[in-house]
Amino acid sequence: MSDIPELRRKNLIFLGAPGAGKGTIAKEMVAKYHIAHISTGDILRGEVAAQTPAGKQAEALMKSGQLVPDELVAGMVRRRIAEPDCRRGFILDGFPRTIRQAELLEDALRELELNIDAVVFFEVDDETLLRRLTARMNCRKCDAIYNKISRPPKQEGVCDICGGELFQRPDDSLETAKSRLKVFYGQTAPLVDYYRKNGLLFAVAADTIPAMMKRIAEELE
Ligand code: AMP
Repeated sequence: MSDIPELRRKNLIFLGAPGAGKGTIAKEMVAKYHIAHISTGDILRGEVAAQTPAGKQAEALMKSGQLVPDELVAGMVRRRIAEPDCRRGFILDGFPRTIRQAELLEDALRELELNIDAVVFFEVDDETLLRRLTARMNCRKCDAIYNKISRPPKQEGVCDICGGELFQRPDDSLETAKSRLKVFYGQTAPLVDYYRKNGLLFAVAADTIPAMMKRIAEELE
């Protein structure tokens, strides 16, 4: 018998401002429940690195902390959730980010005969968000996430997991981080009410990683 815990509610949206902890908790959930992690930010960074047409379209917008066009991201997500590894469940991390994206997601889900089972809203105050974003470090090779203050790697600049080089995302500079928060409040925050109204949303307050995992498990298992 498999000792991987099963989720009762398994197709999830992680909603929250940049720096709220969505990516970090998503990675913990993937390790624990073996569900798929779909981070539109990671997908887009891959497209930019490969200089695909989508990457070229997204590059300048990402650098300045603006959103890339709804149709472009929604198309990427639609293709990704149709892949077989998503049948065990998936986390949409950083998508949808606008009401239009939520509508496009609904169309895709209907077509694929899938449902969203829960929306996890990461509730974090602005001061904490900015502190976290500007101290964040990412691994170039495996995308692991560190924090210079609260979650430093064992050796400075080196990933504990794969030995890859750690770097600061260009959009995590203080100035761009502030713009990204503005974009969040203007374009993404309305989704909190949108999902609260259809009864899918529960909020998780900023806490230690184990405490947040416990709270989420209580809601979903
Ligand atoms: P993230 O890694 O989720 O913070 O995303 C980094 C950047 O990628 C964002 O600031 C946007 O420019 C772009 N991006 C990621 N997800 C989306 C989305 N769902 N809609 C539009 N732009 C996105």
